[in-house]
Amino acid sequence: EELKAELLDVLGAALKTAGFIGGPMVAGFEREFAEFCGVAHCVGVGSGTDALRFAFMAAGIGPGDGIITVPHTFIATTEAISQVGASPLFVDIDEATYNMDPAQLRKYLEEQCDFDTATGKLVDRKTGCRVAAVVPVHLYGQMADMDAILEIAEKYQLIVMEDACQAHGAEYFSRKENRWRKAGSMGKAAAFSFYPGKNLGACGEAGAVTTDDAAMAQKIRMIRDHGQATKYYHDVEGYNGRLDAIQAGFLSIKLRRLAGWNEKRQQAADIYRRLLEPMKEVVGLPTEPSWSKAVYHLFVVRVQAREALQKTLGEANIGTGIHYPIPLHLQKAYSGLGYQSGSFPVTEKVAREILSLPMFPGLSAAQQVQVVA
Ligand SMILES: *Cc1c(COP(=O)(O)O)cnc(C)c1O
Repeated sequence: EELKAELLDVLGAALKTAGFIGGPMVAGFEREFAEFCGVAHCVGVGSGTDALRFAFMAAGIGPGDGIITVPHTFIATTEAISQVGASPLFVDIDEATYNMDPAQLRKYLEEQCDFDTATGKLVDRKTGCRVAAVVPVHLYGQMADMDAILEIAEKYQLIVMEDACQAHGAEYFSRKENRWRKAGSMGKAAAFSFYPGKNLGACGEAGAVTTDDAAMAQKIRMIRDHGQATKYYHDVEGYNGRLDAIQAGFLSIKLRRLAGWNEKRQQAADIYRRLLEPMKEVVGLPTEPSWSKAVYHLFVVRVQAREALQKTLGEANIGTGIHYPIPLHLQKAYSGLGYQSGSFPVTEKVAREILSLPMFPGLSAAQQVQVVA
């Protein structure tokens, strides 16, 4: 509502020129978002799922390869892995941050992989696939422990792709570099989603890849546009995965507000913490390590009687969510991967206890008092 006039101007401009795909609004947003993330390149695509898939393709990952990620994420992370022909390989999360546990990543590489000296490749013993990449997911708006993950990845020569779809503007203090880094600037490339409910949301579907690698950006520009750099000269097969000009224009308007909106989320998180502190024995609060500046895409608490609490809140017209109720390794879609209940105990425990409370920039302190009451 507060942006209506500006958004209608964008729509008017697009209707006037009939430039609906590509063009100056897309190029403009790409420049602005690259700058916001502190990277050299941003390539607008059709969704966060496209962003992940195109980044994997551009890195040359395909059939026979395995990509390590966590089972505590939205299914798009693993859909993108499977859709390039690779296999998802899971490691468990850290119970405090809900993100990939670097110790579990190391343990997996040491204990469940073999180094094939003939090919020089790291192989997952169970599936025989070549371990090619690792995808830390910056869940709920907080970055994974990237220093530790990057160090392990370097040792094993794995490509790191960030799933930053929930973390627009989140920051991580790199002890190695002694400076704060933005989500989307630390891996080989990163995927963002601008699904309407994300911290930066379009008025429809949209996504982007950020990277410092010019060749990678160029490849993704081709992949999103049917594999062509020059019209009707197709070097490879690609996808129809471009960012709409209207969405790019909307995103430029909203990007100017993003830092302020993220601050409002952080303030709301502080208020929840203060209000919930007296009952912290029964309501587990999110952990924000000193190396993290989270942007609270979600404010997730932990409770034993989760279903009862969700029902009570629902009856008081307070909307909540569960992100996510069923770990990916226990989803029907992945029954073929050979995991079972007990494979990832931290993820499974967390999935039974998490509850996402109302969280958005316009949430008032009075509403938060009401939720907590
Ligand atoms: C939203 C999301 C995606 C996918 O984004 P879409 O734009 O919906 O395709 C991927 N990963 C995570 C963690 C997400 O939250």
